[in-house]
This record gives sequence, structure tokens and C-alpha cells, in this order.
Amino acid sequence: MLFDDPDFQETIASVLVPVAVPGAYTYKVPPGKSVVPGTIVKVPLGSREVIGAVWDIEPDAAINPKKLKTISRVYDETPPLDEDLRRFVDWVAGWTLGAPGMVLRMVLRSEEALEPEAPVPGVRRIEGAEPDRMTPARGRVLATLEDGFAWTKSGLAHAAGVSSSVIDGLLKQDVLETVMMPASPPPPKPQLDYAQKPLTPAQQAAAEGLVACFDKGGSVALIDGVTGSGKTEVYFEAIAEALRRGKQALVLLPEIALTEQFLRRFEQRFGVYPAEWHSQITVKNRARVWRGVASGDVRVVIGARSSLFLPFKELGLIIVDEEHDAAFKQDDRVPYSARDMAVVRGHLSGFPVVLASATPSVESIVNAETGRYRLLELPERASGAALPELSAVDMRQDGPERGRWLAPELIHAIKETFEEGSQSLLFLNRRGYAPLTLCRTCGHRFQCAHCSAWLVEHRFQKKLVCHHCGHSEPVPQACPSCQSTDSLVACGPGVERIAEEVSDRFPQARVLVLSSDMAGGPERLKREMKIVEEGGADIVIGTQLVAKGHNFPKMKLVGVVDADLGLAHGDPRAAEKTFQLLAQVTGRAGRVTGGGRGILQSYNPEHPVIRALLASDKTAFYQAEIDARRAAGLPPFGRLAAVIVSGPDRAFAEGYARALARAAPEDTAVTLLGPAEAALAMVRGRYRFRLLAMAPRQYDLQSYLRNWLNTGPKPTKGLRLQVDIDPQHF
Ligand code: ADP
Ligand code: ZN
Ligand code: ZN
Repeated sequence: MLFDDPDFQETIASVLVPVAVPGAYTYKVPPGKSVVPGTIVKVPLGSREVIGAVWDIEPDAAINPKKLKTISRVYDETPPLDEDLRRFVDWVAGWTLGAPGMVLRMVLRSEEALEPEAPVPGVRRIEGAEPDRMTPARGRVLATLEDGFAWTKSGLAHAAGVSSSVIDGLLKQDVLETVMMPASPPPPKPQLDYAQKPLTPAQQAAAEGLVACFDKGGSVALIDGVTGSGKTEVYFEAIAEALRRGKQALVLLPEIALTEQFLRRFEQRFGVYPAEWHSQITVKNRARVWRGVASGDVRVVIGARSSLFLPFKELGLIIVDEEHDAAFKQDDRVPYSARDMAVVRGHLSGFPVVLASATPSVESIVNAETGRYRLLELPERASGAALPELSAVDMRQDGPERGRWLAPELIHAIKETFEEGSQSLLFLNRRGYAPLTLCRTCGHRFQCAHCSAWLVEHRFQKKLVCHHCGHSEPVPQACPSCQSTDSLVACGPGVERIAEEVSDRFPQARVLVLSSDMAGGPERLKREMKIVEEGGADIVIGTQLVAKGHNFPKMKLVGVVDADLGLAHGDPRAAEKTFQLLAQVTGRAGRVTGGGRGILQSYNPEHPVIRALLASDKTAFYQAEIDARRAAGLPPFGRLAAVIVSGPDRAFAEGYARALARAAPEDTAVTLLGPAEAALAMVRGRYRFRLLAMAPRQYDLQSYLRNWLNTGPKPTKGLRLQVDIDPQHF
């Protein structure tokens, strides 16, 4: 179509833009350009320009084109987002009640990926050319170039183990030539038969069960396997199957700290590293991975929950490892569960999704019981090693002396473990030195100025830190309230304080604290994980970070400093979460060699969760939990949605929340609770109130909420309203 043709009809496209508005905006397509649904474009929006995606072409939109703005750039070199991904974006928006543009924003995470990388100079051998004189160094360079590919000079020097002057010499003699080459050549492809471990019979059966899922469209499998049963080896076979079928695969992990070990294991199995995707990768790598995923050059991605929104060319498998982990739930912006949305993405595109855990979520167990998910069990460790033996210390009778946190029995066990050259892990899910600092003279407690939370002392950093907003201040010399010096006391332990006690008792031991907030960031953490793995530490003190998925071959003893910690919450998920966490963390003991021990320090060893752990009675625990949920109509037997109202003025926010509650449509199926102060009543200076809607399982809660929020009073004056479907905490 010629644009100077008088009959020319302008094309109008609706474009989804990454902002929180309910729908798409309409634009004119620039003359001479063509777009299709999914084409990535840049459009003017107010005074700025944003990247969006064409969502629809509207040839006969009843809009006067003169009033429309024009798309300012069409990214023709980037593949359009395919229909499956667009449907997924719409589905997630519909489910979460989020703006589709905000979901799209998770897809368009790398603006740099849209700009093609400029080629870089490289060197290549000129066919048939020989140097005047052959040296071993020159021989290595020529051998490296044998397959005909171009290399960057530095890459070649490194690979051949020569200095760059050797390469310069060969260039001067016209044995090598300079050519322009892509800045990032496609990554090497995984090799399916690189090195497969012989599987145990149970693993083999599970692997076959996974492979069978490929012929059943979007089916979901749950691998319920004890710690050390080799779930990773099993789902590697599902990845191999996806690759064999010409598909890409995605592995979701809850924690970046886990990726290092995973990358190495993947390399051992497939001969190459998979691509990584999470918030810590560099802008450049992010762009490369995004592009590689879209072009199909990248075959396997391992990533955090956000990788679920990558524009895969031909995704054919998603694995969600540690599927029970709360880290898969995103709480801000668009609250969504990456585990649940992975199942949806698989379902929409008709490919299998594999969930794996030693302690699956109650939701997934129920789905397996009702036959919705295919259950694959691995009841034994791959090494044949027995599961750790667990015991409890009753802290009411056998606790430590005042000011100490480790009971004599635990100290004794650490001593034995240390003396036999094995490792111990002390687990406490509390970062920092002490969770609360108070003044002994006047009772002043240090609280965050912006949140309803205590400031946590971090002694290594000499700071008091808020774990909710990040606010920090130096540890003061005197009490700000009564000015007395020497009266501030640290109350309760954090991991740093446990480390202090351990170093005190075992001066010869190598003690390491593993906590996500230690200086040095994720790189240091990865290094330290490796140190532990290789036996370079004797006693490790860690937060929940160490509970997940790691394989520490020399770890024999796990001590849980405060087994009651998670149970104190009024949250109905507290039992499940605590059971999972403690089973996982004690599961670190004796994974390879057996003979592992777990010691739980508890003031309430009769608690059903502690009893179930001690008896290793997982089935009984899940059954009791499922019965309780069913009786109370809680998920997965009922549906929940939280509506959080927040604002800088407490009374105003509360008043609005009340008005909103009054405006809720009558419906006998829906029970509305609240408004009540949210569990964290203030965060970052905003007061938060929560309404909770409960409904039966089959009820369309989203429609109810949509209707309610559309007809109810609108938030004004700095108020914010957020819907959280299936909240983690309820
Ligand atoms: P899980 O994820 O189930 O806790 P992993 O996959 O981490 O277990 O495996 C635990 C350990 O057992 C790892 O060191 C792994 O290499 C090893 N392993 C698993 N399966 C086998 C096998 N079939 N043969 C030999 N070693 C295995
Ligand atoms: Zn004081
Ligand atoms: Zn704070």
C-alpha cells in the first residue's frame, strides 16, 4: 500500500504500554511500516516515549486518525511476541486483576535487547596460508582456528595460551585476517548425551513418568522426593526430552544463591552452561539472554520467577524446583505466584510443567491426590544414605545458661561432629546480631521511623537496620530517650550472635555465616557456598538461604536454634511453612554418607509440627493439615483474595478501607473480613489496612472483585489499592 495513494487507509494499532492503565492505547502505524500483533514498538506517551507491544490491529476503529499519535519506532529486527505469550500476559492480568501493561512490563525487561549489538573485529585464518616458520605457540593458534570460526584477538590469545604479539605476527604475515564478527556468537548447544549418571530404579521410573508427560499436552507432574533423592538428575531427563523435541526449557529456582551449584551440575550433564536470568545479571548479559531466548539460540534458561515472562521462541518445558518456596510469590507491583503461573503458561501452550520438592505445598499435594497432577515419588536418597535422625531439646529443662543460645546437648553434638572432621550447620532464620535493641534504664525500643518493625542490630556493619524498608542508622552511643550510656542491650539472637557464641566455644573451628545481607553480595555468597561444599568450613551458621536445595557432602549435623520461631505467627500457613523449612534444613545432614543428625531446640516439643518432624511422619502431617484446611474452607479448598489499602495518613486510609468494605456487593458466597491492620501495619511510611474476601473453590472471585472495585469508591489523595489473589499470609 502506498501512503500517497488517496485511497490509503491508515492502519491503527492498539498498543499495550508498560503503565498501570486498564487497557491498550491506540496509535497510527507510521507510513511504510507494517506491524502485526506482538510487534515491539516505541510510542509517545504524555511527554515521554515508552516501549510497548502491538496488541491488536484495528483496521476499522471508530477513531479519527487525525487525533491519534503515531508509533515512533517499530523494532522490526526483534521477533514479535507470539500469540501464546500474549495470551499468557492477558491471562495473568485477568487473574491478578493487574493492568495488562504492568504484566507486559515483565516481558520487556531489557530495553537494550532491542538494539542489535554492533559487530566487533575478530581474526580468522586465511585458507591455505602458512607462516614462514612454525613455533609451538603459532601451532596452538592455528589449531584453535582450525574449525574456520572467527575469534576476538583476546579470546584467541586466551584459548591458545599465547600472548597477543603471536597473533599480531601471524596477521602481519597474512596467515590470519581481520574480519567483523557478531559481538556475541550464539552459545553452544547442550549435548544430550554428554554424561548421564546411571539412574537408580526409582529415578528411572520417575524420569520415564516425566517423559510420558510430553505426549499429554499441558500436563503437570509433581516430583515428591526426599532431600538427596536426586530430583535434579530426574528432571534433567525431562530437559533432555524437551531438547530432543526441538524445544526450549526453563528451570525456575527460588534463590539466586542456588544457581551456582545448579550451573555446574547442568554443565556436568549437558556439557555447557545454561543461560542465567535474575536481577543480578549485568545489563549486557540480560540483553543477550533476552535476545537469545527470542531467537531460539538459547535453549535452556535457569532463572528467578521473572524468567517466566521471557519471550521464548519455542518453550516446551518448565521446571519449578523447590516449588513450595514462598520466594516464588511476588508481592509487589503485580502480585503473582510464579509456580501457579508456570502451570498456566504450560497449559496455555500445551507443554508439561514439572514441580519438584522434598516438601511440596499443600496445594500441590491436594492436586496430586485428586489426580490433577501426576505424582512421582522418590522415597529414598540416591546415595542409599538414611535420612537424618531427628531429636528435640526441651529448652524449658535442658536449655543453655543465661545469655547463651545453644543447649549443652547441641554443643556436645557440634563438638563430636567437629572432632570427626565433619561439618555442622546451625540454622536460625534471623539475620543480623539481635532482633531488638532496648534501653535497660528507660525501656526505649529502637523502632524503624517508617515501618512498624524493630530495628535489627547488625554488628559486623555496626548498624541498626530495618528489614522491611532497608532504613539503617549507626548503633547509637547513648539512649535517645534517657541519654544514658551503657544501658543499651541486644535482645535475642540473630545469626551473627550465634556465630559469636560458636567462635567463643570452638576457637579452633572455621566458622562461616551465610546470610543474604552479608557484605559482598551474591558473588561472595556463591563463593562461600562453594567453600562449604568443598569442606572449607567446620561450622556454618545460616538463615533460610541454607535450607534450600544445596548439597553439602560433609554436612553431618544440623542444629535448629529456634524451632518455634515460625510457629509463633497467627498465620494459618505457619504450620506448613515451618514443617517445610525444618524438614528442608535438617535434610542437609548426611545426604551422601548417611549418619546425619538433626537437633531441634524448642520450648514446645509437643507441638504437632515438631512431633511430625521427629517421627519423620510427612504423610500424617500433610493429612492433618489438609483436613484442617478443608474444615476451615481455606486454600486450596476455598479461595482467598486480599485487598490492601495503604496511604500516608492512617485515619484517611482506614476510613477509605471502611467505605470500600461497605460498598462490597452482597453475595452469600463471599465472606468479607476486615478491614484490619495488615500484619505489617506500616511499611515505608504508609499505613496499611487489609480486607480479606473468602469464597468457595469454584467461585469466580475475580469477577466479584472487579465488580466491587469498579463500583466502589475510588482511592484518592495518595491512597493505593492493591489486590493480592491467593495471598501467602492470611
Ligand atoms: P535432591 O534435589 O532430590 O535433594 P540432588 O539431585 O541434589 O537431590 O541429588 C543429591 C546428590 O545425589 C547429588 O550429589 C547428586 O549428584 C547425587 N545423585 C543423584 N542421583 C544420582 C545417581 N543416580 N547416581 C549417583 N549420584 C546421584
Ligand atoms: Zn533509655
Ligand atoms: Zn523500615
